[in-house]
Amino acid sequence: MTRSETLFEQAKKTIPGGVNSPVRAFNGVGGSPRFIEKADGAYIYDADGKAYIDYVGSWGPMILGHNHPKIRQAVLDAVENGLSFGAPTELEVRMAEKVIEMVPSMEQVRMVSSGTEATMSAIRLARGFTNRDKILKFEGCYHGHADCLLVKAGSGALTLGQPSSPGIPEDFAKHTLTAVYNELESVKALFEQYPEEIACIILEPVAGNMNCIPPIPGFLEGLRALCDQYGALLIIDEVMTGFRVSKSGAQGHYGITPDLTTLGKVIGGGMPVGAFGGRKEVMQFIAPTGPVYQAGTLSGNPIAMSAGLAQMEELCAEGLYEELAAKTKRIAEGFKAAANKHGIPLSINYVGGMFGFFFTELEKVTRFDQVTQCDADAFRAFYHGMLDEGVYLAPSAYEAGFLSMAHGEKELEETLTAADRVFARMAK
Ligand code: PLP
Repeated sequence: MTRSETLFEQAKKTIPGGVNSPVRAFNGVGGSPRFIEKADGAYIYDADGKAYIDYVGSWGPMILGHNHPKIRQAVLDAVENGLSFGAPTELEVRMAEKVIEMVPSMEQVRMVSSGTEATMSAIRLARGFTNRDKILKFEGCYHGHADCLLVKAGSGALTLGQPSSPGIPEDFAKHTLTAVYNELESVKALFEQYPEEIACIILEPVAGNMNCIPPIPGFLEGLRALCDQYGALLIIDEVMTGFRVSKSGAQGHYGITPDLTTLGKVIGGGMPVGAFGGRKEVMQFIAPTGPVYQAGTLSGNPIAMSAGLAQMEELCAEGLYEELAAKTKRIAEGFKAAANKHGIPLSINYVGGMFGFFFTELEKVTRFDQVTQCDADAFRAFYHGMLDEGVYLAPSAYEAGFLSMAHGEKELEETLTAADRVFARMAK
């Protein structure tokens, strides 16, 4: 037994499924999860001392690579001053100013401690502001595990084959309408059915919890127009795409202005952070200026703010996003070329620092139902082949992959050579 396997057995005795978040359990790919001991740059190291080139990056935030010296130093400096005060700090003001500078549609911002909190709070605010109950989300999009958002969700929920969870009363779920991602007609039909009841649309601007599905041209613009026509708010959930697809998120990349934006992961530099913000008129509806209640004992935590600020400063470096996108393109196109060389059909999507690959004959995958029809056995074979080769991909066919600035020529080359070997074995 490896040390990871021993730890997994031990963990299952005291932690449900041995993990604190379901996808980590490897249910989607089988086998035993690697327990991670440390990480540095593009690499993570498991409890058995094996190094992996990491394309998960703590599910997104490690955009500069693991254990970045400036972020580590910022955390160490902040620790000197105490861990939490439960009172306002200058760091929070600086963080708010930085977020607003980078994402101009956010005129005001409130910090929270996770992506789930961010989307849950944004939904409550949208409902309070519009005085409407229904929300519209897309099948296969994941926005955290709040009751109203765990309906036909993606990510771990989908990996477990339970996109909607027991424990959510039908009375709650009935207010969540679900449409088909990249199909504007399905959204139009719901607005026609409930013209004055829909508070907001919430979506991932590049869906990253059903693998990686960018919006087709006109989709985001169409949603914006429908929201304007029917008096609903548009919430763009950039928990994954924020500061990853571009410096100003997917909304900057695609030129779309939401009413509210949710952020997470990347702004914390690896610490537990989320945020939501948007038009000042809407944000003023939040307590203490407005009637919609929202709060958090550890919100704006000084260590998290310091880590996040250090990361955001670094992300403003000239040319960073061009370089990140070029690395991402190289990996995605490289996977496709290697698969095709061995006669294995593979379709790819990529944008900014995120990518996806699909074992399918389809030229392009743009919809959720197409994702679910991909060859799951081929994914599992490729996944474990790459893991053995020392490449750590997301352990689910429903998750996007992430590049970091720490992935250099050596790591990219080694990854593609490994992929070539694995595809060759799969083709036999
Ligand atoms: N929204 C999106 C788009 C996400 O990808 C996630 C998590 O993966 C969340 C919300 C929830 O964030 P958290 O896991 O920090 O609660």
